[in-house]
Amino acid sequence: MFDNLSASISNVFRNITGRGRLTVDNIKDILQKIRISLLEADVSLIVVNELLARIKSNALNHAVNNNLTPEQEFLKIVKNELVLIMGEKNCTLNLQVVPPVVILMVGQQGAGKTTSVGKLGKFLREKYSKKILATSVDIYRPAAIQQLKILAEQAGIDFYSSEPNKKVINIAKDALQQAKIKFYDVLLVDTAGRLHTDDVMMQEIKQIHLAIQPIETLLVSDAMTGQDAVNIAKSFNTVLPLTGIVLTKVDSDTRGGAALSMSYITGQPIKFIGIGEKNEALEPFHPDRIASRILGMGDILSLIEAIENKVDREKAKKIASSLKKGNNFNLNDFLDHLQQLRNIGGVNGLIEKLPGIGGLPENVKSQMNDISLKRMEVIIESMTELERIHPEIIKGSRKRRIALGSGTLVKDVNQFLKQFNEMQAMMKKIQKGGMKNMMRNMKDLISPGAFTR
Ligand code: GDP
Ligand code: MG
Repeated sequence: MFDNLSASISNVFRNITGRGRLTVDNIKDILQKIRISLLEADVSLIVVNELLARIKSNALNHAVNNNLTPEQEFLKIVKNELVLIMGEKNCTLNLQVVPPVVILMVGQQGAGKTTSVGKLGKFLREKYSKKILATSVDIYRPAAIQQLKILAEQAGIDFYSSEPNKKVINIAKDALQQAKIKFYDVLLVDTAGRLHTDDVMMQEIKQIHLAIQPIETLLVSDAMTGQDAVNIAKSFNTVLPLTGIVLTKVDSDTRGGAALSMSYITGQPIKFIGIGEKNEALEPFHPDRIASRILGMGDILSLIEAIENKVDREKAKKIASSLKKGNNFNLNDFLDHLQQLRNIGGVNGLIEKLPGIGGLPENVKSQMNDISLKRMEVIIESMTELERIHPEIIKGSRKRRIALGSGTLVKDVNQFLKQFNEMQAMMKKIQKGGMKNMMRNMKDLISPGAFTR
């Protein structure tokens, strides 16, 4: 799902590093590459243009957040805009009405309507404990009614058997009557496939809609039809008041264009996506998750959020400026770093989120842990102010006192000081300060062998 788009977009991001502030010039080529990726994914041109205009304007006008690198900021902007264009948040079905909640499924032949009725029935029964009745008004293909009957059985929902020689409107009304009498929570109505260009059939669906007044009118749309899916949705929406879209066969659609374009162009939210033929292959559509998936950087994105939310901005600024001024990086600064690191979920949380580090062997990873970090904090806290600023004065008796105060051994203090010296040397090499470098050097900071007992 979204494999190609995800591969090409995350590739764009992998290749942007060290751009400094975001400016018209230095984002131009990135925007161009994103444009190509989106067009190749069959995202509608209108949507591509809108998306890029928004990304550009946001990238140039956003307030600089000192906690993030320009690349991280840019990634965040792209992600936000992707989410917004797909509809911001998951839209659920409106179940807060007097039952039975009538859900009408419409769409073209083969879009996945009947399959989706089964899936939705199972979903609502399992997740919301609803009592569900399904019926089919697809009298044009004898096998269609039978198909739903079987699917309903598999989904564990009830089926109202319609006789093919009855009028479509009457079947729909009878089913609704039945749902009322038997106190069903939900009535799912499957319909025959129709072309949006077929006037007679479009009138028929209008009449059905009028007769049973559904709370939800869901357009079932095949993602594989790409741009066409968007046009079909638009036409259906002019005839019927749709309340949402079920985008099917997203599992087979390697491009993903429909998922991105649909909601913006039709003004209708995608409520569910079908991701397979089996009746459990239905997912509520979460723009946020899809955007992360497309960017192929779910973990990095959550890391960015963690840094944004949890890092003490004032402290981060202080660290940055102390480094910029070329001040010696002392143990007080280090203590600040350690505390900031803990704020964003600690090393263990961080390791999980950084793809590079996540791939390291277990024995290496096990050496970087929050316990050893906490121990470092305690050792620094056992030092006097003078010792923190001038660690070189820490000799024999001071070491013994610090070890005693921190509940560690002199050997630990030694090892810690050695490590700190290495880090200080590393910090001197840092040109620009701030969280950016802190993140970049995190790997070195918690490198193999770093402070273990
Ligand atoms: P309808 O004519 O709209 O009722 O379409 P059907 O429900 O009969 O589905 C048509 C075909 O699409 C069937 O072979 C389904 O198994 C298949 N199908 C439906 N939804 C999905 C989906 O989400 N993923 C995949 N891979 N196949 C699907
Ligand atoms: Mg069908």
